[in-house]
This record gives sequence, structure tokens and C-alpha cells, in this order.
Amino acid sequence: MQLSKTNFLQYLTCAKSLWLLKHKPRLYPHQTVSNYEEKLAQEGYEVQKLVEGHLLQDEGANKYSFNKVYKTSQGLYAEADIIWQNDDGTVNIYEVKSSSSVSKAHLTDATFQTIVLERSGIIVKSIYIVHLNKEYVRSDILNVGEMMSFSTVTEQVRSIIDETAMEVDGAIRLLEQAEIDETSCSCLKLSKSHHCASFDYFNPGIPKPSIYNLPRIHKNKILLFSSERRFDLNDIDESEVSGNQLSVLQAAKTNSPVINESVLEKFYEQVKYPLYFLDYETFSSAIPLLDGVKPYAHIPFQFSLHIIPSEGSEELHHFEYLADGAELPIEMIKEMQNCIGSTGSLVSWHKSFENTRNKEMGILYPDKANFLNDISNRMIDLEDLFKGGYVDIAFGGSTSIKKVLPVIVPELSYDNMEVANGTDAMEAFTRMLEMPDGSDRKKLKKDMLEYCELDTLAMVRIFQKMNAYI
Ligand code: SF4
Repeated sequence: MQLSKTNFLQYLTCAKSLWLLKHKPRLYPHQTVSNYEEKLAQEGYEVQKLVEGHLLQDEGANKYSFNKVYKTSQGLYAEADIIWQNDDGTVNIYEVKSSSSVSKAHLTDATFQTIVLERSGIIVKSIYIVHLNKEYVRSDILNVGEMMSFSTVTEQVRSIIDETAMEVDGAIRLLEQAEIDETSCSCLKLSKSHHCASFDYFNPGIPKPSIYNLPRIHKNKILLFSSERRFDLNDIDESEVSGNQLSVLQAAKTNSPVINESVLEKFYEQVKYPLYFLDYETFSSAIPLLDGVKPYAHIPFQFSLHIIPSEGSEELHHFEYLADGAELPIEMIKEMQNCIGSTGSLVSWHKSFENTRNKEMGILYPDKANFLNDISNRMIDLEDLFKGGYVDIAFGGSTSIKKVLPVIVPELSYDNMEVANGTDAMEAFTRMLEMPDGSDRKKLKKDMLEYCELDTLAMVRIFQKMNAYI
């Protein structure tokens, strides 16, 4: 059975899930690849192509080979991004990554490749990770030599190669096993953040909701509850949990929301009218598209703004902006200045995102920093209401607007939208940049505007519904 680098990394994360994938692929819960994941994969491919093009300009370029495949009789499989043939018969390995630093996973990855090459009879002399230089700022022409860093990792790889080789052999032995214990897996004793999509396969019969929906639950408690086979929240006593966990437990037991009026009151006390509900969409790319931009910088390209002019008013005004191409956000900021007055609160969901963008835009445009800092200082986070003020088991332990909206305002929905979340919006914008003018481009822009508008309208309706509880 073949063991690729991706398989090996999965093995290191969870041996059982790799075994399931390889032995029972039809039962393995394959995840669909989102448009955003495709965008990331495409970016990785583009970075690799740029590096290849750059190296082919070197003297002795014919000593490079790209995407060369190596296989061993044990089933090990490696596709090396770039190989340099040294005059003494040895080779150098270059693994290209579209990230901006060398991670532990990259080292493991390069070590796996080295093991496969050496078990194929090749002598590996030097090993490099080629990654983005996070300090690179694009000017009018993309300079691939400056954008990429070639980090030597030969010593690090050599220091872990024996241990990694033992793990590779462990993975081979696991794949040779026709059977494993499929009746349970170790994540039964760990919080939800550790679970993968195979959890339900290995642990059938765990109720929903369960102890894993209790927020920030300590590992010792999970250990205790799971060892006593108490997965159902009805089997947990209120005295055994604390803080937000108690609200979630009560909501589950009564199958109705738990409302903490004092938290709601405190939230609404800080609200000042006019009220501005604001949401940004941003794009970021491994290869900077604009002059003055670093790899992976978040560039806002769109906002939606709903305004309630005064307390009790039934008026609701909407303003929006969507860049027509790749551009820095100066026109967007000017449009915001036209719409947002100097008094009143701004409302966003998970405000650190909007406020971080405000800070970055203030650095980019110092003459706009006062305006942007001011709106950050006036920003209220609507998500805070759902961290103890209003808890519903139907949120599944999440405070994401995508989970809260269908429960609180079921008449509004992201379902069936062509652009249905922030990463879709980023991918759609990237796609739009490549599209010629015409009906397809128009339709895509309309989808993007509808999505962003729903984000702020959803906040308005949630805000109003919650306000009715005090
Ligand atoms: S839930 Fe955890 S232990 Fe179980 S298969 Fe997934 S990663 Fe492995």
C-alpha cells in the first residue's frame, strides 16, 4: 500500500484515521474541498511555478528537475518539488511552501522526502525549504528572488531523520494490518477541538448534544465523564460544571435558551445612536497583487453598512462598497467617511477582525488614521451577547453568526447563497479579478454584495431580537 507525504503527515496526526482512509475509503468521511481550499492550492501551484521560472534563469539550469517522482519497494512515494543534481552525483532537495516561515510540519515533510530518496538509493547532500519572505513588499514588478527565501534545513532534517524513519516504518506496518480496533478512538477522552471527521465512525452512539458541547471544558472533566460513559448532558449534574458550561448544560436539559438579563443589560447600556452595523470583506494572497503589499496582507475590498438613525426608529439605511478590481482601500475609506458620522456606536461581529483592518489601513494612510481609530474605539462586538447573555444548545457550542442567525432569526438564511461566507467572498473576489466585463462578472458582483449585505442585516435583526429581552 502506498504511503505518500500527505499520508505520513496524517499518520502523525492520527494513525486510525489514516488506516480508515486506506482500508475503508468508502466509509471514510471525505470532506468536500471548498472554493477557498482550491484557491489556496492554486496559489501554492503558482508560487511553485514562479520559483521554477526563477531558477531556470540560473546558470546550469539544466541541473534542476521539477516534480520528480520517487518510489520504494516498501510503498513509499515522494514527488520532490525541485531537485538539483550536484556534480558529485548527490542531489539537493528544495521543497516549495507558500507560507512565510519554516514550520515543524515543513521539516517533517522535508525529512520524509529525504528518507524516500535515500531509500531509493539517492544520496541527498543539502535540503532547503523555499518559502515566502514575509518582509517582502511588492513594487511595480514582482521580484521572485526577493519574494522567496531559501532556508537551509539540512541540519534540522539530519537531527530528526532517525526518529522520523522509525515513524515511517510504523506507518508502513499500520497500513499492512488488515484490522485495527474500530470500536473506539482516543479522542473520546479529548475535547471537541481534537476531534476529526472520523470521530462518529469510531465512536458511534455518542448523543448530540453531548459533553463535547460544553465550552472550555477541562481535559480532566472529559476524562472523568468519558471513563464513566456519561456522554449525555442529562447525565451531568449542574454542580459538576461552571461558568458558561452551566448555561449550556441548562439550555440542553430544558431544551430552551438560557438568558442572562444582566449581561444583556450591560451590553445595551453601552449602545449609542446612530447605530452603524459594519462588516468588511478582505482578500489576501500568497503572491501580492498590488504595489506596496506584503504576502498574505489582508486588503479590505468591500464593506456593508446598515444604519439605524435613532433609538426606536424603524428606519434602516444601507450603504455598501465593492472594489471593481485589485486596489488599495483608499476609495473604500473615503466612502465610509461619507457614511459614518462622528457620534454613535459601530457594531460588528467578532470586532477584532474589523479593528485590526482599521489599524492596518491607518498605517497605510496616516491621514485617515484618526477616523479609523475613532470608529474602532466606538466599536461594540455583538458576538459578546452570546458568550453568556443568551445561550441556546442549538448553537452547538459556537458563537459564530452562521450558527446564531438560523436560531434567532430563522427567516434570514445564508443557505443557497452563491457566496455564503468570508472565505467564499475572498475566493469570489479573486475570481472576479480575472473575469472580463459581462453578465457573469455582474452576477458574481451581485452575489458578493448580497452576501455582505446579509451579514450586516443579520446583525441588525439579531440586535433587535435580543433587545426585546430587556
Ligand atoms: S477523532 Fe481523534 S482519535 Fe479519532 S480518528 Fe479522529 S483524530 Fe483520530
